[in-house]
Amino acid sequence: MKIPLSSPSISDVEQSYVNAALREGWISGTGEFVTRFEAGLSARLGRTHTIAVANGTLALELILRGLGVGPGDEVILPALTFAAPAMSVLAVGALVVLADIAADSWTIDPAQVRAKLTHRTKAVIAVDLLGHPADYDALVGLRVPVIQDAAEAHGSRYKGKQVGAQGDCSVFSFHANKAVTTGEGGSVSTDDAALAARLRLIAHHGMSRERPYVHEVVGRNYRMANLVAAFGLGQLDRWTELVGARDRVSDRYRDLLAGTACEPAPVAEWATRSCWLHTVSVREREVALRRLRASGVDARAIWPVLDEQPVLAHLAGDFPVARRVSRHAMWLPTYAAMSEDQIRFVAAEVVDALGAADLPVRGA
Ligand SMILES: *Cc1c(COP(=O)(O)O)cnc(C)c1O
Repeated sequence: MKIPLSSPSISDVEQSYVNAALREGWISGTGEFVTRFEAGLSARLGRTHTIAVANGTLALELILRGLGVGPGDEVILPALTFAAPAMSVLAVGALVVLADIAADSWTIDPAQVRAKLTHRTKAVIAVDLLGHPADYDALVGLRVPVIQDAAEAHGSRYKGKQVGAQGDCSVFSFHANKAVTTGEGGSVSTDDAALAARLRLIAHHGMSRERPYVHEVVGRNYRMANLVAAFGLGQLDRWTELVGARDRVSDRYRDLLAGTACEPAPVAEWATRSCWLHTVSVREREVALRRLRASGVDARAIWPVLDEQPVLAHLAGDFPVARRVSRHAMWLPTYAAMSEDQIRFVAAEVVDALGAADLPVRGA
């Protein structure tokens, strides 16, 4: 049985919006579907402004430019994450500063952030890792803007509130492997009207809305296409269904793997995590992955710690929690259309791969 790590769920809802955009011939940036997509996302998050952009990485870069982060400035981010936040900091010429993650949430440890603050710190990027929100209440009041990277956390909640509503501004990715997708896509949401206006200006070539072809600031083109937003509007309509379907898969894995040597990722008491990819820690991960791959199951190791990336090797540090998680955690296939048979097959392969002798990784 071939089982991919992830697979998008596409219905006739998306198809009908896309067909409407095609019929109207309005396919590039700005347009009715972009406006509706932005309004729909703002409403879902309880934010006042949303700007749809071409992808999640550019959403982060846009915010950094909007906040005036540049050469010589420092931005603190978690040592364990997909590399996009680090790349966006490097793209604006600023310095990456890594902080370890907390063992109870696998998100950036506020105490470590405090220890890394300097007069050059211009922002903190908190990542809602694998869908688990960072501890935002512990990050506000640090006198630097907090950027919420919720790229993996559609539908999660922080202390009862929708993820995407925290920090000075938040980012989603709509890449095809995320719970809600537009193929490629991203967004920035904020309640700060002045920041939103500035981000919109930069995202539209730095060009005044009132005075076309008058460029007020250095801008670029970060826009999401109307055709893409039409697809996204269909996914927004199905948000609850899409998020719920992944949670159902994750719950089944948790039940089927209970009492085995697999340790599920932690959930802090202040968090409600919607699952992005079901993640487990095992002692002999490489053995397990070899076995799963040989059976056609596309399970994968979580990312290396950022200081193990060639481009960030100069940041080598301790980061004991990130290191432990990075060595032992792996993702199991997780997507909306997974059948009970497929979930059972993967779980059985995991149990076989572990063998009776493997022991849980305490603390990972
Ligand atoms: C996917 C992801 C991004 C980037 O999103 P793209 O849309 O692929 O550019 C950013 N941050 C995190 C944590 C992600 O997982």
